[in-house]
Amino acid sequence: MSTYPLYCVCKELPGVKEALEKNDQAGAAEKIQEYLEKKDKIPLNIGITGESGAGKSTFINAFRGVDNRDEQAAPTGIVETTMEITQYPHPNYPNVLFWDLPGIGTTNFPADEYLKLVEFEKFDFFVIISDTRFRENDVKLAQEIQKMEKKFYFVRSKIDNDVNAEKRSQRDFSLEGSLGKIKENCIEGLETGGIKSPKVFLVSSFDLHLYDFPCLQKTLEKELPAHKRDALLFSMPNINMEIINKKKEAFQAQIKWYSVGSAAVAGVPIPWLSVGVDLTLMVKAVTDYEVGFGLNESSLERLSSTAGVPYDELCAVLQSPLAAEKITTDLILKVLSHFTGTTALMAAEEGSRFIPIFGLPVAMSLSFATTYRALSLFLNMLADDAQRVFKKALGLNPSV
Ligand code: GDP
Repeated sequence: MSTYPLYCVCKELPGVKEALEKNDQAGAAEKIQEYLEKKDKIPLNIGITGESGAGKSTFINAFRGVDNRDEQAAPTGIVETTMEITQYPHPNYPNVLFWDLPGIGTTNFPADEYLKLVEFEKFDFFVIISDTRFRENDVKLAQEIQKMEKKFYFVRSKIDNDVNAEKRSQRDFSLEGSLGKIKENCIEGLETGGIKSPKVFLVSSFDLHLYDFPCLQKTLEKELPAHKRDALLFSMPNINMEIINKKKEAFQAQIKWYSVGSAAVAGVPIPWLSVGVDLTLMVKAVTDYEVGFGLNESSLERLSSTAGVPYDELCAVLQSPLAAEKITTDLILKVLSHFTGTTALMAAEEGSRFIPIFGLPVAMSLSFATTYRALSLFLNMLADDAQRVFKKALGLNPSV
């Protein structure tokens, strides 16, 4: 049987092409699997620094979707007096590490020594947090980080407090006006200190979907190297529909690898729903979707405590039979058996449009197409559930 179509799809992946040239389809499938596993292990190290009480731990917890009271939470409200550095892995993505770094003022080290002590090389970027104007220390640190050719972002924390205070004290309160003034104030201070065009984001860790956190997310995504972007995206809490859609697009872009892997493993025509399709690959893909969208049991439990919405109420809006379940081959087969009709499968439009591009011969296209359509269908189901859960958590109507 010709390996030409697989060759076409896989020439971008090192090792796959070579395996196919030797007609070693199992080897090619193994390489694809290796690629899929490796992409999950790309490290992302985020350094969070700022003076004691600035809101570092709360920011780290919110970013990880962990409630301050959770046992995995970074302890909050504790006054730092030591040079203690603590790392907090993302609960779903242990390769994404948040480092709680003590404020430079706490340590009394000059900025360059401070950065050496925290081993600055390992960080992908730094977030410098302050709950007031940024100070001389923040400026010195940022300048030193810049010298080390690393990225840094200023987060002005606890914006909800400022907004509430302004609301109470101003008769003609305007949210935009108040936020504008706070940001201007921060930028001015930093520029006076010598930072050119500082990037300042106004954030409330209790409401990440408000103010500038979505803008911080976009900036990070734009400025991170391409191979790190998915690690950041998947570990992001679902703060808006846009993030959910971006996650869906990123997962959609991976489907071809799973499908080719499945075709390479099967390699022979298989009837619909035959176990010839590599179900282990499908289980891995669907588990990735479930976790990435925060629809696994532990993520939903965490969301329940951060959003203050009972777990059962979050689960009540789920429509796919995959969410909040352990993904197994049995479950995949069970769900697929409800969708054996071609019409339902064709609903996974992306898949059906994609197939002719590669023009796979019948021999392989069946397992390629089966996996492609099935994964697209599962992805759509889970993305829709993620949107419903997001709305429910915000107290909006999930069906609108
Ligand atoms: P750290 O010492 O820099 O880690 O600061 P913490 O995260 O422990 O926060 C210090 C205090 O500020 C705690 O009581 C937090 O609850 C509170 N805090 C942190 N972030 C926010 C926020 O975004 N809004 C409000 N209102 N309070 C916050």
